[in-house]
Amino acid sequence: MAEFWKFFLLVPMMVFERRMYKEARKTWNPFVGCLHDCSYCKPSFQAQVKRVGVVFGCKDCMEYKPHFHPERLQNLEKKLPKTRGDEFIFCCDTGDWTFAKPEWRKRILEAVERLKDRTFLIQSKNPACFQENTFPENVILGITLETNRDELCQAISKAPPPSKRYKDFSAVNHPRKIVTVEPIMDFDLETLADWITEINPLCTYIGYNSRNKPKLPEPPLIKTISLIETLEKRGIPVRRKLIRKAWNE
Ligand SMILES: [Zn+2]
Repeated sequence: MAEFWKFFLLVPMMVFERRMYKEARKTWNPFVGCLHDCSYCKPSFQAQVKRVGVVFGCKDCMEYKPHFHPERLQNLEKKLPKTRGDEFIFCCDTGDWTFAKPEWRKRILEAVERLKDRTFLIQSKNPACFQENTFPENVILGITLETNRDELCQAISKAPPPSKRYKDFSAVNHPRKIVTVEPIMDFDLETLADWITEINPLCTYIGYNSRNKPKLPEPPLIKTISLIETLEKRGIPVRRKLIRKAWNE
């Protein structure tokens, strides 16, 4: 009976995972938690982690406090599917790498390096932290850039401002990068397109907030389409997520 309820509660998370990244074959969270306190994260990721935390009885998951789940490093050959082409396993999608302690990172990366026939995505909103590790070839590094406008991000999050994220990420010497512009907020077309071009990602994910709350300062649809077209003209593949009119349009 207990197993049945675990499955029931995990189904919404699986659905969510597919919506967030089309190529993500699975999410794997040996590290969980974040202190950036982004307002749009509360009704999405934090709610999901809390639900799983309740099922497995992890108080730190319920509070979204940065912590390690070393038991999730076991039996990975069986637990994680092999990936092909653009597919990847989203490593720590319910946490920001910047809050993972050095010892936790070391153990996670050792496990990742052993699984050469799987590709992993690791994301942060503080890409300066990527300089503290050497990442194996089967890792894609990612950042979120919801906008280029620092003041819009600072109103909803404690994460480093987008201008710093883009500079720090450009300076990271790793060949496989992606940028996520989701949930998109109003932006300056030339600046944001130039930043993404400089980062030179394998692809860019663009999408509006998939939740109704909070009401973010969204760009009009036509502006988002201009960003997509500008990037594609520059040879940067764009994966369209939830593309719709702004809530106040
Ligand atoms: Zn936990």
